[in-house]
Amino acid sequence: MTKNVLIIGAGMGGLALALRLAKKGYHVRILEKNKQPGGRINQLKKDGFTFDTGPSFFSMSYIFKEFAQDCNINLPFSYYELDPLYTVNFDGNPKTFLLYKDISRLAQEFNGIEPDFEKKMRLYLEKSKRLFDDTIDIVIKNNFNSVADYFLKLSKVNAGHLPVLLRSFYRHVSRYFSSDEARQIISLVAFFLGRSPFETSAVYSLLSYTEFQHDGYYNVKGGMYKIVEGIVNELKKEKVSVIYDTEIVDFVSSDNRLSYLIDQNNQKWEADIFVINADAALFRGKIFKRRKFSEKRLSKMEWTMGSLTIYLGLKCKLPQVFHHNYYLGTNYRDYANEVFKNPNALKKPYYYVNVLSKHNADCAPEGCESLFFVCPVPDLRYKPDWSDREKIVDNIIADFSAQIRQDIRPEIVSKTIYTPVDWQQQFNLFKGSGLGLSHKMSQIGAFRPKNYDERFRNVFYAGASTVPGTGLPMVIISSRLATERILQSYPCK
Ligand SMILES: Cc1cc2nc3c(=O)[nH]c(=O)nc-3n(C[C@H](O)[C@H](O)[C@H](O)COP(=O)(O)OP(=O)(O)OC[C@H]3O[C@@H](n4cnc5c(N)ncnc54)[C@H](O)[C@@H]3O)c2cc1C
Repeated sequence: MTKNVLIIGAGMGGLALALRLAKKGYHVRILEKNKQPGGRINQLKKDGFTFDTGPSFFSMSYIFKEFAQDCNINLPFSYYELDPLYTVNFDGNPKTFLLYKDISRLAQEFNGIEPDFEKKMRLYLEKSKRLFDDTIDIVIKNNFNSVADYFLKLSKVNAGHLPVLLRSFYRHVSRYFSSDEARQIISLVAFFLGRSPFETSAVYSLLSYTEFQHDGYYNVKGGMYKIVEGIVNELKKEKVSVIYDTEIVDFVSSDNRLSYLIDQNNQKWEADIFVINADAALFRGKIFKRRKFSEKRLSKMEWTMGSLTIYLGLKCKLPQVFHHNYYLGTNYRDYANEVFKNPNALKKPYYYVNVLSKHNADCAPEGCESLFFVCPVPDLRYKPDWSDREKIVDNIIADFSAQIRQDIRPEIVSKTIYTPVDWQQQFNLFKGSGLGLSHKMSQIGAFRPKNYDERFRNVFYAGASTVPGTGLPMVIISSRLATERILQSYPCK
């Protein structure tokens, strides 16, 4: 008999899982608290502009291809490669570093700054490649049934990588490069994980290999939201219904099975199998009321930085600004050590700017530009009050104007701000942490919230908050790992 699956959350994890299960013959419904699908990969249309509100690029394009193959569909969106991958700008330094994939060309960017850059970068990437090759299948693309199983699988990883585990990302990078510029630019990718390069393990230097050599970064034609629209379209063909404005607030269970979930209007939702795409730690604590995930315990876990995001429509063009750009100050170490907990760090903000209209003319009226800023900020545990948001945002816009030598302030015709308060309210993200639980060693693999429930045999989890972790490709992998669990425990027919 066909099994009924109820998925809570129409984020990338929920949507991808829904398509995988529908293709296997399960009857799938999705409940989403918001008015539109996508979760953090979302879209804002305002004043004639279109903004991607969360992800602005992705890596590991082959994971999306594998997903399409598994579902027996053509990939329902088109993407193009970014080269340069992004630019990096330092306050007070007129040079814009262009991060090319071609290492010889990239080396020219460091002429007179980092002696023998090309040789050093090739050596560094060789090590990053070995780390990637030795861990991707064993650690990242695998389910773990217990801590023992996890360590057994880890024991298969080349022991030669052990010293890397004991080093920080920044220290590791500093063994290869001597200039501040090269060290900061190469270790910047740790911030993409929502952590400081001074705290993140050097294991994550494998990300340098994924960005520069293995695959690179990609943009979606028409904007990132086309990924969501494409998958939702495939779900329609499979008769998967997505029910919006429905937030799960409670549950009823019987023995070790979940009987039904209850929404904000007291409506009951029954199913044979439930999958939680909402945050796996927070849902266990807030809805299932597990002590291990109480608010107090969650507060003690390590969460990634909060996100302050700004969406600006400008009535002018910015020819000097590339598609993806980082703007850094001159106090990298102090900033990285402070920004996660100390609001004072925002006096000199570091931020990322994406110009969506650069390659997607439809996203802004003619002669205009659609801009998206992401600024790492302390989460709501450390900065609960955002009544000073306008002041902080004005400071960022003034800093950006100075860095690009063009005052954009008189050109702003559309402005929207999401503080961590908004991120928390919109998507139930713990304390407004943009990327959720951090990837420190004690919060990954078998130590991350599991993708099967500890108590209810018919409950599973998919998304960034469970294995393997955060970012769009990881979330797609998580949908495969959750599907494997469901197929094993509840085969469709
Ligand atoms: C500012 C920002 C920039 C980012 N940039 C990138 C990037 O460039 N590249 C990249 O790869 N990744 C990026 N990420 C990370 C990426 O967005 C996430 O890893 C991914 O989208 C998470 O998907 P998910 O399905 O796990 O969770 P979510 O997107 O959070 O989806 C969970 C869904 O569950 C819903 N929900 C929650 N609770 C309930 C409830 N009780 N009842 C009903 N529904 C509920 C939520 O509304 C949401 O729709 C970025 C994230 C942020 C915040």
